[in-house]
Amino acid sequence: MFAYIDKKIHRLLRDENKIRTVGREGERRISLIGPVPLPVQHPETGEEHILRWYPFVRRTELDEVNRISADLREGRSDDLFTLINSFMAVSSVLLHGDFEHQDRPLVRLHSCCMTGDVFGSMRCDCGPQLHRAYAQIFDAGAGAVVYLASHEGRGIGLWAKAVTYILQDMGQDTYQANESLGLPADSRDFTDAALAIKAFLSDQAQVRLLTNNPMKEEQLVQAGVPVAERVPLVVGVSEHSLRYLRAKKTHGHDFGEDGLPLESDGPGAGTDEPPGQGS
Ligand SMILES: [Zn+2]
Repeated sequence: MFAYIDKKIHRLLRDENKIRTVGREGERRISLIGPVPLPVQHPETGEEHILRWYPFVRRTELDEVNRISADLREGRSDDLFTLINSFMAVSSVLLHGDFEHQDRPLVRLHSCCMTGDVFGSMRCDCGPQLHRAYAQIFDAGAGAVVYLASHEGRGIGLWAKAVTYILQDMGQDTYQANESLGLPADSRDFTDAALAIKAFLSDQAQVRLLTNNPMKEEQLVQAGVPVAERVPLVVGVSEHSLRYLRAKKTHGHDFGEDGLPLESDGPGAGTDEPPGQGS
């Protein structure tokens, strides 16, 4: 019987305290499911840790999926594909340790990057940044990674991102390439991420944000998450990513006191290159 997600399943989730909605009525709200325990390896030592995984979605998108599900259950529709193909961006919070009782926990807001995180592409620094964030959070004993769906290519999606890579190989930088398509250079919104962090952060706490990107800090603070400091994440620098990283630097990314390794003032410096996203 089709039961996704009927009253019985919903009640089960609620009784087990595994589903909740956060945010103010009338404003942006998100619904979270979890925790689901995920055993993962420390990317550097191989040591095993258990993360608490909470997938989350915008409440408005969930309501729409629930509406289609109800139609299916009640025989008002037999088009299961409408449900399967309905758009719901599912992001995730991954908590380590006693995050809820930390005064200054490490937090990484990571924009989804299929090419870097999954394929291992060296055109951007996303994959190494994600691994380094895990390592630092495990070493600190507690922290959170928020993995953000719909942030691919700084918000333009994977299909358009592939086109921008081709434009970049013809000489444009990562921001120009988005704009050549009439798309925003960076359309990412971190409001949902802030809600997800606030759902777990203790009242007095301030986060230490693992990023080189001051825009993430600004958006988090605006959304009511206090940031104690930014902790630079300078990894994944290679000949393949250097032009891309220089473009990010030109656009305000702060790589800390040591700056970008491999960087020189030679020809091409500051003219930037390839793809990815934005740490
Ligand atoms: Zn990337």
